[in-house]
Amino acid sequence: MPSSVLSARNSQHIITSCKVFYKLKETYWENGVSKIPQIIITDEYVQDAYGVKWSDETGEHGVLLVSYTWEDDATKLLPFDGDFLGPFMIEKLDEVCNSTVGESISQYVDLDSGPTIIHWSTQHYYHGCAKLYRQRNWSQNYSLLAYNQTHSKNSRIYFAGENYSVEGGWTEPALRMALDATIHILKNSNGVFNNGFNPDSDYPKYDTEFTPENQYPSPHFQKS
Ligand SMILES: Cc1cc2nc3c(=O)[nH]c(=O)nc-3n(C[C@H](O)[C@H](O)[C@H](O)COP(=O)(O)OP(=O)(O)OC[C@H]3O[C@@H](n4cnc5c(N)ncnc54)[C@H](O)[C@@H]3O)c2cc1C
Repeated sequence: MPSSVLSARNSQHIITSCKVFYKLKETYWENGVSKIPQIIITDEYVQDAYGVKWSDETGEHGVLLVSYTWEDDATKLLPFDGDFLGPFMIEKLDEVCNSTVGESISQYVDLDSGPTIIHWSTQHYYHGCAKLYRQRNWSQNYSLLAYNQTHSKNSRIYFAGENYSVEGGWTEPALRMALDATIHILKNSNGVFNNGFNPDSDYPKYDTEFTPENQYPSPHFQKS
């Protein structure tokens, strides 16, 4: 594995997210009485909240995502354990609902079951919820993006998924890198493509010779 690839992998910019869930006793937004909306956007610690309903073989279930946070807003919640964070978020969302539609949301929440809390940055092997690129990190981004094209034939290692793409945080770049890995595996193992697809002429290549005009550190900031 080239040192540039290891360096790019080890210095990735991975951001975090936190979700705090509670079971619902009742799907309040469809009971014909409650004025609390199903989706709430706030500038409080909770940030965003929404109710979800789904059905399975055991019946219908309602869940409240009492707090959905990203990046800085999620980082602020990391030091607190579930015993504090769950009730704190319910209290804050109650304040929002009481001061706007004059109704408490906690009456619909199954508080006895306790919260389910996911901090993506503390998940083993995830380290976060999405990979974003650092400003001016052209060469590091390219060493991961173009790895399948440049090195996989010899190394027999293939990169797939969001972690090796550039514009992370979405399923689209994850799928893009999965397709890239699949095409290169087939190509390097003399596989047969459907419908006359030719990976050499029908699939674009990364221009690994290209260097952008503006590189970091900018020459304007270098001492003469
Ligand atoms: C909170 C949050 C909200 C998001 N919202 C959106 C959204 O609204 N729209 C959108 O497009 N994208 C969203 N995303 C991003 C989207 O979920 C990811 O881009 C996508 O899931 C990445 O796909 P992936 O296949 O690269 O990785 P993953 O989906 O993470 O798949 C990797 C799989 O590998 C498994 N695994 C890990 N290690 C091992 C091992 N050693 N052995 C076997 N299996 C292993 C994991 O369990 C996992 O199932 C969101 C992500 C988060 C966290």
